[in-house]
Amino acid sequence: MDNSFEKIKKFDPEMAELTMQEEERQKKTLCLIASENYASPLAAGLEGSIWADKNAEGYPGGRFVAGCELADRVENLAKERIKKLFGADHVNVQSMSATVGNVAILRALLKPGDTVLSMELDQGGHLSHGAKFHYSGKMYQSVFYGLNKETEEIDMEQVERLAKEHQPKLIICGASSYPKQIDYKRFGEIARSVGAYLMADIAHPVGLIAAGIIPSPIPHADVVSSSTHKTWRGARGCGIIMCKEELAKKIDTQVFPGLQGAPKMDMIAARAVQALESMTPVYKAYQQKVYDNAQALADELLKCGLRLVSGGTNTHLILVDVRNLITSGKEAEAVLESVGIVVNKNMIPYDPQSPKVTSGIRIGTPALTTRGLEEEEIREVGRLLADTLKNSGNTEALDKIRTRVAEIAAEHPLFDEEKWLA
Ligand SMILES: *Cc1c(COP(=O)(O)O)cnc(C)c1O
Repeated sequence: MDNSFEKIKKFDPEMAELTMQEEERQKKTLCLIASENYASPLAAGLEGSIWADKNAEGYPGGRFVAGCELADRVENLAKERIKKLFGADHVNVQSMSATVGNVAILRALLKPGDTVLSMELDQGGHLSHGAKFHYSGKMYQSVFYGLNKETEEIDMEQVERLAKEHQPKLIICGASSYPKQIDYKRFGEIARSVGAYLMADIAHPVGLIAAGIIPSPIPHADVVSSSTHKTWRGARGCGIIMCKEELAKKIDTQVFPGLQGAPKMDMIAARAVQALESMTPVYKAYQQKVYDNAQALADELLKCGLRLVSGGTNTHLILVDVRNLITSGKEAEAVLESVGIVVNKNMIPYDPQSPKVTSGIRIGTPALTTRGLEEEEIREVGRLLADTLKNSGNTEALDKIRTRVAEIAAEHPLFDEEKWLA
């Protein structure tokens, strides 16, 4: 932590203490939460900078306050770089989160009561894709597809059947806990065959897509939304929307003034740097390693007797059915945290347990790969994870595992600048 932290320590010791404890927690534990990462200091570098003070309400060339000439250049730079990185026609960088961005997309494309076909939450979808309790589920008519029970992969025949039957205005693909690549081409064909828009939400695999490790939905989707902090490795708190030119005005209008006021210019400046960083060979190598580490981890977990949903992964994410080794996802999460391995419990498809208990855990490799773990170390973490579940009542065994987890964590700084900065 930098100099300004010394001042906070003096002025607000209580907050300083909490912050130092959180830093210690992050340093001493191994994070396998698939949606977390350690933001690159480059990508996060301008957050909280002088740009945070600038009100730039409106869009470049059409602001509602004076003094925005440089802010215009910053926002245009962010947009141009992201357009180039993904090959998108139009980019909006103002939404304050991916979830808010998704709401803006729905409002731009739909009228209240219109039908949306999307992946069900407990099959791997996201709450902003039509969950009952979310704005998206309250305002629009949701129809859900899920996974084939045998293969535990998205049932594309079901998608096609439901699309024909319900004639949705919008089809959404993209998920929060689905370990496999998504067939965007087929989704695009189905959407066009029923005259629906296709939205692809790449909040999770965005970094792999940016680096060209897995296929992009851009050629097939009308709109693509994303987070910035997951695999992409920027700081948390921003959403990106990419769309075809003909939808640009509708989307922009729904972000501002439809849902938000002035944008966070510091986050937009940081996003410009993040996009530039994403174009470097070092970044591409990082994403390749995220992918390779996930394959190695899945292989090791299978060897340890765990069942993986969808049979494994071809992304950064693994969904583990823990019931071969322990009774529930909730217990797995707790015992793993007790040894310093941080994961989240997660519903598996057709889970007999409630969302608060679950039969699975979701894990991913973006964070540990940023800390520089190589394949052999990731495999060891896999064995430690399985051993923990096998020995959940054995204090002695857990103590040993805890010691080894702490050693591995100590050997790997949170963000190894030497390794990961271009
Ligand atoms: C994480 C996630 C989001 C939301 O991102 P936030 O920035 O937390 O709002 C949206 N869609 C999917 C599929 C996600 O996994």
